[in-house]
Amino acid sequence: MKIEAIDIFKKKRPVIISGPCSAESEEQLLSTCEEIASTGKVDVLRAGIWKPRTRPDTFEGVGVQGLEWLVKAREKTGLPVSVEVANFNHVFEALKHQIDILWIGARTTVNPFSVQEIADALKGTNATVFVKNPINADLELWTGALERLNKAGIRKLCMIHRGFAQHGKSIYRNEPKWQLAVEMKRRFPEIPMVCDPSHISGKRELLLEISQQALDLDFDGIMLESHIRPDEALSDKDQQVTPTMLEEIIDKLVVRQPVVPDEELNSQLKMLRQQIDIIDEDLLKLLGERMRVAENIGLAKKEKGVTILQTKRWEEIIERATQNGELQGLSKKFMIRYLKAVHQESIDHQNEIMNSEDSLNLSSAKNEQSSNS
Ligand code: PEP
Ligand code: MN
Repeated sequence: MKIEAIDIFKKKRPVIISGPCSAESEEQLLSTCEEIASTGKVDVLRAGIWKPRTRPDTFEGVGVQGLEWLVKAREKTGLPVSVEVANFNHVFEALKHQIDILWIGARTTVNPFSVQEIADALKGTNATVFVKNPINADLELWTGALERLNKAGIRKLCMIHRGFAQHGKSIYRNEPKWQLAVEMKRRFPEIPMVCDPSHISGKRELLLEISQQALDLDFDGIMLESHIRPDEALSDKDQQVTPTMLEEIIDKLVVRQPVVPDEELNSQLKMLRQQIDIIDEDLLKLLGERMRVAENIGLAKKEKGVTILQTKRWEEIIERATQNGELQGLSKKFMIRYLKAVHQESIDHQNEIMNSEDSLNLSSAKNEQSSNS
């Protein structure tokens, strides 16, 4: 891909992008943007005017009049402005108003027809386009969107990581699945990566933690939604913060310098190591979960007076896991060593459950000892 650096990323790290989820009125947009700008800590303003809402009968944006307000916000603050585009007409209108940065939302990146329509509309322009990850965890769609734009001659590209939809309970509105963003950084080291903690978290309490995590993974920027009166926001109110809270978050962020590797190999190794660390963390979480399940099995067996070790079941596990392991390119020898270790740990956990009175006595004895000492 032929990529050209975007000026704002050359000047500062991290680049901070902020503004309301949606432009709602001229007053709301201008007062929010002016207050954000007065912190002196924000580099780009944002506001959605065409809102792709999951459900109908919710606020769908103020439409093209919002572009005039964005232009005023730029005049008043001197900051570049950005807006989400999702079709040919949006691009046409945004370019007509000389909006500085266009971004493609998660519900659009997911659809190659829409992305192609946007790319066609942008042909022959020198636009700067930020591409959010698709709603679902499919890196090929994200990559494909960048490729479609690049083939249309768009060279000033940036990626925005806003997390991935999942089914079921989670503390996040959208699962960050950090390793996927890191993989995109590895694939396209020359394209900056911005994190959008607002849409990952869905709630303001998590914004700082997620922003810090992104900085520690060497992201180039952070996009945070801010609203002059968050509780009255017409969209995404739980995740928006006042400009004052925004400033507090920015002030608390610790910007650690990546060891700047001159050589290509070093930077490649760094990306790969980040992936390994994240995968290791996930593996440990899963192993912990496996042990919790084993403990429940221990409880059930205890109730019915069944032994911990069931040879037939153990043989089945080995058989199935070595076959699955082979499909993943893992040797039988490794799989057996791994299974033995995991199995032993499971047995130890079950043992503790089964003989919990003993272990209770033991731990109270230990406590006594330590309080005596
Ligand atoms: C937004 O930025 O307000 C938005 C709609 O985000 P996403 O496309 O990530 O859902
Ligand atoms: Mn939003």
